[in-house]
Amino acid sequence: DGRWFAVRVAPLGTHGLVLVLAEDLTEMRRVEAIRRDFVANVSHELKTPVGALSLLAETVEGAADDPEAVRRFASRMQQESVRLTNLVHDLITLARVQGDEPLPQLKPVRLDEVAAEAMDRCRLKAGAKNIELAIGGCDGLEVRGDDELLVTALRNLVDNAVAYSPENTRVVIATRRADPGHVEVSVTDQGIGIPDADLERIFERFYRVDPARSRQTGGTGLGLAIVKHVATKHGGEVSVWSREGSGSTFTLRLPLLSASVKEPVQEATP
Ligand code: ADP
Repeated sequence: DGRWFAVRVAPLGTHGLVLVLAEDLTEMRRVEAIRRDFVANVSHELKTPVGALSLLAETVEGAADDPEAVRRFASRMQQESVRLTNLVHDLITLARVQGDEPLPQLKPVRLDEVAAEAMDRCRLKAGAKNIELAIGGCDGLEVRGDDELLVTALRNLVDNAVAYSPENTRVVIATRRADPGHVEVSVTDQGIGIPDADLERIFERFYRVDPARSRQTGGTGLGLAIVKHVATKHGGEVSVWSREGSGSTFTLRLPLLSASVKEPVQEATP
């Protein structure tokens, strides 16, 4: 864990004097190691669906005279392509939000509208598990942002809430004014919760508490990393509260732009 230096020695004149330049390489080496890990992870994540697809293509060829088997393999191929598409899509989004450049074309965005849109995109998945999606809190709170990225971030949170909850439970999105300068949107579920030991790491790229479960629910392992970077890019942050076996609350905190209507619309407790 020591520090790394590049040392350059240059002779100065003819009197035996030398100039010693030491450059601290520790940070450079750390960034390089993170980049290498990321590339290795991406390759691994891509290999799995691509390998499955080529195997399924081979198998379906050999089963040409069994229409039922062909249908089954075709459906598996469809699942693997969706997985591949989701992964590529998330990688593109992550590349967009994790860089240093500011986001172009920010505009006033209503948080209640972002929340409603994010929820609509999860309705099908929630319906399949009979999970009730509820929305509440304040209407009319505005932030300056990129509406599509904010919807993506909130959709990732609602998507996870549904994926990691049992059937017949409830997921609530609530928007509120946290203090004079900030708004918060929280997503609360009654799901499996997250062990304390994992809480610190879940926002890392490809970190999963239970890799088998994440893959089974179609997760790419990038959802929360995207949420974190979208929050940072908007001058905000994301936090999590969770208890194993009872549920989790993820909260996105963003700088408030304006509040046109302030009264609460509905009390929102899960
Ligand atoms: P994934 O695609 O695996 O869901 P994410 O980055 O979205 O990746 O989440 C990282 C991990 O955090 C998940 O694999 C899961 O273990 C855990 N997690 C995220 N949201 C929840 C939640 N609402 N309830 C329980 N665990 C969660």
